[in-house]
Amino acid sequence: MILSSLLNIPENISRSAMKIIKLKSQLIKTLITKGNFTIAELSEQTYLSAPTVTKVINELLENKIILDLGKIDTSGGRRPNLYGINPKSGFYLGVEVNRKSLSIGLQDLKNEFVKIDEHIPFELDGTHGSLDELCLRINSFIKESGIAKTNIVSACVNLSGRINSVKGYSYNYFYIEEDSLSHTISTKIGINTYLENDTRAMAFGEYNCGVVNGEKNVIFVNMSWGVGIGIVSNGNLYYGHSGYSGEFGHSPLFDNNILCQCGKKGCLETEVSGWALERIFKDAVKSGNCSLVANKENINRIDLERIIDAIITSEDTLAIDIISTLGEKMGRYISLLINVFNPELVIVGGVMSAVGDYLLFPIRTAIKKYSLNLVSQDMELKLSELGSRAGVVGACYIVRNKCLEQLS
Ligand SMILES: [Zn+2]
Repeated sequence: MILSSLLNIPENISRSAMKIIKLKSQLIKTLITKGNFTIAELSEQTYLSAPTVTKVINELLENKIILDLGKIDTSGGRRPNLYGINPKSGFYLGVEVNRKSLSIGLQDLKNEFVKIDEHIPFELDGTHGSLDELCLRINSFIKESGIAKTNIVSACVNLSGRINSVKGYSYNYFYIEEDSLSHTISTKIGINTYLENDTRAMAFGEYNCGVVNGEKNVIFVNMSWGVGIGIVSNGNLYYGHSGYSGEFGHSPLFDNNILCQCGKKGCLETEVSGWALERIFKDAVKSGNCSLVANKENINRIDLERIIDAIITSEDTLAIDIISTLGEKMGRYISLLINVFNPELVIVGGVMSAVGDYLLFPIRTAIKKYSLNLVSQDMELKLSELGSRAGVVGACYIVRNKCLEQLS
């Protein structure tokens, strides 16, 4: 027996069988969220009698959903046994879809990766072909992992843009069928699938096992090809009324007559984003500025990743000057977020954050300059700890959360 069988309860089940399933769910949830326990401790935690806990524990042991971890030392009397969740009795699948690559990870019930493939080449273009390729890659990954699909609790796929994660629709990519995208992917990979906005998933990854250290009100700023924010409010992801919160990059902050990817003009993204960095760098080289990695002849072959690499490995001064200016602008508008939300922690993550202090320092200086001192003085600004892995980690934690909701 595996955890998935407890999450998919048949409709015609008897009341007594249902009661047993509920008891099992209660104990499993306690063991997943709070760690290992003795029967006495579990009884105390769940308000169930010791004989009831013993009966259910024995069934879960038989089903290999939990493990007997042996006797623990006590100051006297009979030494009780310690029980813990069997991490291999269920798995969470996380998929991060980027413009030119995919990351796929499979975590066990203790949120340890049993397999992770990053930077898998992939072209995200929103067509049926691209969607088929995505599902093909996921299926190959699962096959290579050696984990049976029936052992995978659920999957979460992250995409950029407007995502309604409740209804499972993506409006920027793969809005090509009447059926929801989450249902289409579920059918193609044979695993129940959730959809999530990429920035929100990254924020959740950092919140659960990244740079967040107990803070409950956090803003994660994703500086990648586009710009978005993920909001954690009182320890919960904030979605907004329809799930579209966090579209900070499309705030109309500039009177620059530059057309944004969203179709409007003057958005923050037009001057502060990965695609803005690429455009500004290319324009600078074309107008005669010198760079270690680019010239008028090769400039059309230079992309965002190459520019970031030029900063990290070659300390290209042109690219550093441009990202410094972008950071200063970003800091000015993060000040706006700080004044509005009063967060404990602001995390700078995404592709551009790989340059580290070249981006963080100008942001920090601008925050000091532009935000209200009283609001920003007890706030911390940090770089993402998970880096390019934040999205896939977050996706696995989102599956975990959904699983725990079903177990309650
Ligand atoms: Zn826009």
